[in-house]
Amino acid sequence: MNYVFQAVRSLDIQDEHAIIIESKFGKSGKIPERRVDVIIRVAVCGAAGRMGSEVVRAIAREDGLELVGAVDRHGLGSDAGVVAGISPLGVVVSDDLRGTLTGTAPDVMVDFTSPTAVAGNARTAIGAGVRPVIGTTGMEAEDLAELGRLSAKTGVGVVVAPNFAVGAVLMMRFAEMAAKFFPAAEIIELHHDGKVDAPSGTALKTGEKISKARGEYRQTAVDSVTKLDGVRGGCFNGGIRIHSVRLPGLVAHQEVIFGGLGQTLSLRHDSISRESFMPGVLLAIRQVVGLKEMIVGLENLIFE
Ligand code: NAD
Repeated sequence: MNYVFQAVRSLDIQDEHAIIIESKFGKSGKIPERRVDVIIRVAVCGAAGRMGSEVVRAIAREDGLELVGAVDRHGLGSDAGVVAGISPLGVVVSDDLRGTLTGTAPDVMVDFTSPTAVAGNARTAIGAGVRPVIGTTGMEAEDLAELGRLSAKTGVGVVVAPNFAVGAVLMMRFAEMAAKFFPAAEIIELHHDGKVDAPSGTALKTGEKISKARGEYRQTAVDSVTKLDGVRGGCFNGGIRIHSVRLPGLVAHQEVIFGGLGQTLSLRHDSISRESFMPGVLLAIRQVVGLKEMIVGLENLIFE
């Protein structure tokens, strides 16, 4: 049975799952154990977007999480629940991130905005002592490194994950394993046509993992006779070709094709709805409150 007697604001004294069991009366058998669930207060930046609305819906369904702030340039003045297509949640969408963070004191800020906005948003959150969970892709490497330094200096935990779907994380792990046996690999990533950055963060991360596992590799023939610019995709780290497809109807998909002597191996992951990312996002929200530094990649929360 769940007895929610009290919302405790100070997360630092709790474990990362923020649950205390009080057994003051439990042993007598007369009164059930008192369970105190700590509510994690969350602000969503990009709350009116495709991913942000999904996060708002996921938080509204989840015990122990409370939406306290919603920031976006769209849906201003409207209730974040209504913007996300559910019942009102009593949280009005604002375009003032700093004001929202100082006014509502969230524990965590989830960011699904744009490559140009994300680093500034994360700096603002850390400055306000709010832990960022970042799903936005396309951030510059220098900005990511700076966030890592800021997080370490302030002790404000950060989670950054280019893909919150567990299947995608497994696909990257399997690709890393396969690369030791099949050094020749190409990546095809496919997304909806509203995606602004290319290649996807997942493709870049997969490419990094493959290069690390296999080292330098070059195609046997120099493909110098190409009749169309870019037809062989972008060349990443150590010669891995990445091909980006953008089409309406797609969500987020990736195939890694390995070629070897007389055989190929294909690894494919398909996010067929944005719900696929929500268990990872919720896990990151729960874990970031116990972090004092930056973690990059969902795999570092689920495998290590
Ligand atoms: P979207 O365009 O539907 O939503 C982005 C929202 O952010 C919009 O509503 C926009 O108004 C808002 N926004 C932009 N700049 C802002 C700012 N400065 N302040 C406040 N709000 C701002 O995009 P989307 O499909 O939801 O994707 C968002 C990001 O999430 C992209 O970078 C995408 O690649 C990434 N993404 C990551 C994962 C993952 O698992 N990590 C999964 C899917 C998408």
